[in-house]
Amino acid sequence: MASHDHDHPHDHDHDDHDHHHDPHAPQKDHDSGPADPHEVLEQALRELLIEKGVLTAGEINAQVDFMDTRSPALGANVVARAWTDARFKQRLLADTRVALAEMDIDIGSLADFRTVENTPETHNVVVCTLCSCYPKLLLGIPPAWYKSTAYRGRVVVDPRGVLDEFGVKVPDGVDVRVHDSTADLRYIVLPMRPPGTDGWSEKKLASIVTRDTMIGTAIPKVTEKTAARAARGKSAS
Ligand code: FE
Repeated sequence: MASHDHDHPHDHDHDDHDHHHDPHAPQKDHDSGPADPHEVLEQALRELLIEKGVLTAGEINAQVDFMDTRSPALGANVVARAWTDARFKQRLLADTRVALAEMDIDIGSLADFRTVENTPETHNVVVCTLCSCYPKLLLGIPPAWYKSTAYRGRVVVDPRGVLDEFGVKVPDGVDVRVHDSTADLRYIVLPMRPPGTDGWSEKKLASIVTRDTMIGTAIPKVTEKTAARAARGKSAS
């Protein structure tokens, strides 16, 4: 698609700290006004593909339903597995596609996936500077801020500053690496397992792995609430 906005790649006008409540969320219901040009284009293209017999409406609906099955919960399960199984982690870092297939997660054939591991020396963060490439088949639909020109432009220029706005303070001695996703290659961050999680089950571990921790704009945290929940789950099982 030639719909990328390259006019203002370093747009600095979005310093509103409102990353999690972007009013321009992708889930439009058309109650809020006329369709924008991209929606008109999408509808025209969809109708043309159906008319020309390239795709059926059923196939399109099936793909939409398939995407709806994808959510950050899938990625969280993968991270929890990597935290508890060192061999799986090695396979995940060596060949993400193969490791995901072990967990019956098919990432399709369009793009390759690479897992980048956070360590005490390195913090990784993912962006698509060109448009909005994202590991949808593992994390579901990207958040609106991920697609914003503000994030795309600024995280490359000032990753520490942007991470700080997300509440992630990267210590001075830690190297920050920004990974630019493309149509061919999508990145997932493997965050560090936080202290205070010894003996937790994979399921409990997965519960603290959020979408943003796998983009690199958050760090998994053990709060009193999650710790109490984990303790209850452990005694119950
Ligand atoms: Fe992209």
